[in-house]
Amino acid sequence: MDNDAVTEELFREDADLTSCEARALAVGEGGVVLDRTVFYPLGGGQAGDTGALVLADGRRIAVADTRKSKERPGAIVHLVAEADLAPLAPGTAVQACIDVERRRAHRRFHTTTHLLCALVPHPVDGCSITRDYARLDFHMNEPLDKETLTAGIARLVAEAHAVRHRWISEEELDANPGLVRSMSVQPPRGLGRVRVLEIEGVDLQPCGGTHVNNTRDIGAVVVTKIEKKSAMTRRVVLGFAEPAAGCGGFLWGTLMSVQRT
Ligand SMILES: [Zn+2]
Repeated sequence: MDNDAVTEELFREDADLTSCEARALAVGEGGVVLDRTVFYPLGGGQAGDTGALVLADGRRIAVADTRKSKERPGAIVHLVAEADLAPLAPGTAVQACIDVERRRAHRRFHTTTHLLCALVPHPVDGCSITRDYARLDFHMNEPLDKETLTAGIARLVAEAHAVRHRWISEEELDANPGLVRSMSVQPPRGLGRVRVLEIEGVDLQPCGGTHVNNTRDIGAVVVTKIEKKSAMTRRVVLGFAEPAAGCGGFLWGTLMSVQRT
């Protein structure tokens, strides 16, 4: 892997971007490093993006997942099948296109985990955000109520709070202990600057993930399950309330049950 391979992270500034022009910088670790990308790499509990790299001749190369490079800090590896690596020599121009529906699911679930942080005032000790569900583990032993949390999420979604990020230097953090105290998760130190995600009037915490732009864009997300994982861990599992797209989902199931009765 080329040690100069560093990827410009377009998704950190604009989660709405679904594609970008880019060039291959290096091949290795099961994929290709691009000079810039809209693909979010697995991290912070959020799954990586999938999608395709489109070559100048129109050929589409599937991206199965996205990872931070283990060999080169700052490089992002787009995982592709080994047979697809040959046309991705350094310097090759591609159009990088993410799976838009998968990203949309990640953004909706991820933003909902921030709402949960506001609804459940306990430290978080685990998080997983996927296309089909999300879960957040709280360090606490008090019971949580599924319906109460679902109603709390629905209220914050209906209230349409603006969601925005900004970068804060460590000097600013040091000068504003009140800001640090107000964060539901403490910021990491030693990186020079910290990306902070604010849901206006609801939650403020350091976060590098992709979010919706307004809580109303979360739509119908509900708590599907609350689990007691250990004496001091309560797990909240989130799901989409609407039927799965593409195969009839709820409507089809309803018609079938009507026909059977
Ligand atoms: Zn976040």
